[in-house]
Amino acid sequence: MDNLHINTKAIQSGWQPKNGEPRVLPIYQSTTYKYDSSETIGKLFDLQEEGFFYTRLANPTVDAVEKKLADMEGGVGAMLTSAGQAASLFSILNICKSGEHFISSSAIYGGTYNLFSVTMKKMGISVTFIDQGASDDEIQKAFKSNTKAIFGETLSNPSLRVFDIERFSKIAHKNNVPLIIDNTFATPVLCKPITHGADIVIYSTSKYLDGHAVSLGGAIVDSGNFNWENGNFPDFTTPDDSYHGVVYAEAFGSSAYIVKARTQLMRDLGCMMAPQNAFLLNLGMETLPLRMERHCQNALEVAKYLKNHKKITWVNYPGLEDNDDHALAKKYLSNGASGVVSFGVQGGRKAAADFMDKLKLAAIVVHVADARTGVLHPASSTHRQLSDSQLEESGVSPDLIRLSIGIEHVGDIIKDIEQALGD
Ligand SMILES: *Cc1c(COP(=O)(O)O)cnc(C)c1O
Repeated sequence: MDNLHINTKAIQSGWQPKNGEPRVLPIYQSTTYKYDSSETIGKLFDLQEEGFFYTRLANPTVDAVEKKLADMEGGVGAMLTSAGQAASLFSILNICKSGEHFISSSAIYGGTYNLFSVTMKKMGISVTFIDQGASDDEIQKAFKSNTKAIFGETLSNPSLRVFDIERFSKIAHKNNVPLIIDNTFATPVLCKPITHGADIVIYSTSKYLDGHAVSLGGAIVDSGNFNWENGNFPDFTTPDDSYHGVVYAEAFGSSAYIVKARTQLMRDLGCMMAPQNAFLLNLGMETLPLRMERHCQNALEVAKYLKNHKKITWVNYPGLEDNDDHALAKKYLSNGASGVVSFGVQGGRKAAADFMDKLKLAAIVVHVADARTGVLHPASSTHRQLSDSQLEESGVSPDLIRLSIGIEHVGDIIKDIEQALGD
């Protein structure tokens, strides 16, 4: 059946059992696969035939979840990774090498900021951070002759800015480079970046996709839409010596990017998702549409409650009508602005710590986006490696409390906040 709704795809896509096979996706806990002839193995290695030969490159459990995600996202293929960090790294490394450059919004996850500004710099790949609210002309000035991509987060963690995907896709394409979008907080349920012009979509599946805080993971989804033969990407149009001279754009057409990511980066660097984790991820994804609906409803209600509380100095939730990014949220997150709300408490850093310590239902955790309500003070945890000016640049103020609203009853979540704020 064609044109299935995402709720149906979340359940039915991916694993397609044949007659008599297990109905539910099995965990193929095997590193290796048996063949009757060495000729078949040869063809697999030459990428002339599709099949499994070693779990670092592909595994049937992982493969089924990759197919489900690609289908939910509207892409031609996906590759799961061991963590979101590996997905961010690979998404860039697949098109950028030492001596080359890319552009990123500064409103991104702290771990990604560090990866881009410190670790990748050591690899010889340079980044220019831009304010995603800057004008087209200002953004154009960040382009260099060796620029290979633009990167941004649909809904940024933890600053909760909404990225104008269509505008940046136009700027990227005018400059013959792809737009890479980290869609972790939005998930394909709330936003499908490919429909707005994104070329590559990445995830930390550790967050809403898994949804239960049980397994780390990441994903890269290829839209199949970018033209790698525009003269700007010789690694796609000239023979790969490490793979018998294969030319990716010729041999794999619209899947060139995702095939190259697997055959070069996954082969050489590892970072694959374990079959057990893919199984858990798949279970989480089955209920993703249901959960996202409740996360969004609860978060909006909590944001409105906080907004009216005298001890709260500010609230940031793009679902609120007076939010700076509300117009963008209406366009890109029309079904809800996800489950994370940030705010400041009167009394700054000390009051924030007191408030967090008093919470009973909401636990202090270095995690967001799972079924349980959790709370975090980024400036003293996830973002503590960043300087004050870097904090500012990524939109994190020292008093910012990040509340990840779970799917408990919203009345109980609000009651907990109420008692922790005192009177
Ligand atoms: C958590 C997160 C990452 C990193 O993912 P891990 O799975 O923790 O490696 C990347 N991007 C965003 C937006 C995140 O929230």
